[in-house]
Amino acid sequence: MNEIHDAIIIGARVAGTITATLLARHGHRVLLLDRAHFPSDTLSTHFFRAPALRAFQRMGVLDEVLAVAPHLATDYNVVDGIIFPEPVTEPEDFPFYLCVRRIALDDILVRRARSVPGVDLHEGAKVDGLLREGEQIVGVKWIENGSSYEVRARSVIGADGIHSFVAREVGPQVEREEPVNRAMYYAYFRGVEQKDGPAAEYHYRGNHLAYVFPCDGGLTLTAISVPIDEFGNFKRDPEGQLLRELQAMSAFADRLAKAGREGPVRGTGSIPGYMRIPFGGGWALVGDAAMVMDPWSGQGIDQAGTHAVFLADELHAFLSGEKSWEQSMSRYHQLRNEFSERTFTRTCTFGRDLRPMTRKALERRGLV
Ligand SMILES: Cc1cc2nc3c(=O)[nH]c(=O)nc-3n(C[C@H](O)[C@H](O)[C@H](O)COP(=O)(O)OP(=O)(O)OC[C@H]3O[C@@H](n4cnc5c(N)ncnc54)[C@H](O)[C@@H]3O)c2cc1C
Repeated sequence: MNEIHDAIIIGARVAGTITATLLARHGHRVLLLDRAHFPSDTLSTHFFRAPALRAFQRMGVLDEVLAVAPHLATDYNVVDGIIFPEPVTEPEDFPFYLCVRRIALDDILVRRARSVPGVDLHEGAKVDGLLREGEQIVGVKWIENGSSYEVRARSVIGADGIHSFVAREVGPQVEREEPVNRAMYYAYFRGVEQKDGPAAEYHYRGNHLAYVFPCDGGLTLTAISVPIDEFGNFKRDPEGQLLRELQAMSAFADRLAKAGREGPVRGTGSIPGYMRIPFGGGWALVGDAAMVMDPWSGQGIDQAGTHAVFLADELHAFLSGEKSWEQSMSRYHQLRNEFSERTFTRTCTFGRDLRPMTRKALERRGLV
């Protein structure tokens, strides 16, 4: 491959497909590489809100996403046995949430990216090197079907997730950092009786949180977030521990007894928090490659989708000659931080202990 692309994007899920699609729609030539073959699942629950929906709207997949799962229009909150359901009234454009399994959501995104003229998607393509000219990143090397390839581009984008190869290679500075505070594990059930709304359910028990979210495929996602020092219990007995946690949530236990689990229990206790400076000479990072927070607040898809839109718009400004690389990427960095810093702080603060947050929520409503 001798041609020079406008952008090479590594990673073809939320951040990568949105960036690629928007850039190609502006007329830029994009090489999109992912080591996975789609449809492909990934370790993630998948609750998202208006910011992700707005990004999907920009990408042109909103109707398809909205059609696959119930619109969750009620917050069904339970704090240590006190129940207070509330309708979701904001924001005006999307007053509801969605929960779509990643195997389904990412497939919608990948199919759309693949269909856009200007996006050249390679699946099963593992990036294993960056091309450099001095301090500048000018291309990538990858392996596909046992053969090695390399190609040059005007920009190299790491949308390659929390274990980003691009980030490892370029060594970005870190602006904010938080240690691992919590673990999360999850599984799907069929036959869970839904609360009216339908509702997104949050069951708090001290510093433990169980989520019950109706999702696509007629399934219900259940997830548990616990302090990290309790992750050992899960590793010793994933199925038993998930059941014990769910049974301990008094407003859910009866309904759980009538439902059946589908598929394995999966989890992780290795998600820290970080905000990296998301660009340098010839490269930029987006999505989890640039910023990660504990998944208890279910923010990753909203954040990755929104940042991808910011990046695509600013990359377009650079590629079309309207702005210099430094100007466009500084603006991307600024927009990313303006959108995300408060959420990052809140997620880290209450990730250490959920109880100050739930106590305030009860006080605000006169429930304690
Ligand atoms: C347990 C858990 C629960 C979560 N729950 C939620 C939730 O409820 N709601 C929410 O919004 N977020 C949640 N998140 C966060 C969410 O999963 C991420 O924020 C989101 O996936 C980020 O998307 P991304 O496109 O940046 O990266 P990813 O989805 O990680 O995609 C990265 C892609 O890069 C590819 N890749 C990596 N390295 C290479 C390479 N060298 N060559 C080629 N390809 C490569 C991978 O194959 C992958 O397809 C959760 C995360 C975890 C771990």
